[in-house]
Amino acid sequence: MTDDAAAAPTCLARPLPPGPGDDRAGGCAAARGVDGRPLHAATLRFFWGPMDCGKSTMALQMNYNHARQGRRGLVTTRIDRSLGPQVTTRIGLAHSAIEVTDDLDLRDLVRDATAEGVRVDYLICDEASFYNLDHVEQMAELVDHYDVDVYAFGLATDFRSCLFPAAQRLFELADEVARIQVEVLCWCGREGLLNARVVDGRVVREGEQVVIGDTMDTADVRYQVLCRRHYRSGDLGPRG
Ligand SMILES: [Zn+2]
Repeated sequence: MTDDAAAAPTCLARPLPPGPGDDRAGGCAAARGVDGRPLHAATLRFFWGPMDCGKSTMALQMNYNHARQGRRGLVTTRIDRSLGPQVTTRIGLAHSAIEVTDDLDLRDLVRDATAEGVRVDYLICDEASFYNLDHVEQMAELVDHYDVDVYAFGLATDFRSCLFPAAQRLFELADEVARIQVEVLCWCGREGLLNARVVDGRVVREGEQVVIGDTMDTADVRYQVLCRRHYRSGDLGPRG
């Protein structure tokens, strides 16, 4: 482990600059209530787990469950493996989604929908670990000032076993944090916890925080979920 990996996480709190059209000072959407719901009933929840634990599947299931009850939501994602903005799952489900870019303000999604007469009850934010810190602050504001539920799904740690900044901020701000219960196993049978980056058959611990495997120009990069013991020893198992 490097010294960096052993360092305590630094506080990522930052003031959120007002977005375009922000009217917090003069009363926001939640101040008027949404469908008569009590103010600040919304929550920010972060569901986390290693790769292949079913995060995107759970995200789409949650979207389905809420939609069935007549609630209206938006689905966002970032750096999905597939082409085009959509949420895809390892078990074959797919759903169109809004691509989150650095410049995107999540509050604008809700404002724009509201301006078009579309009520937004909730946001499903898949791959939330890859969002930037402003996006997480925007999620909190959507909950607190717009009464929109935000359900974020993502990895907690990167290939170095360190928290992604957005994940750290979600741990700090979320009303509820839950580890997804669908177990993904290490090759040894222990519960998988950490995402190892494998380059040319070896576990690497240095490099860019986000490198997408399975793509043409990084064909030699893949990820493998390991238990802590085998992540630390770098043992990829008999078939690694
Ligand atoms: Zn193991």
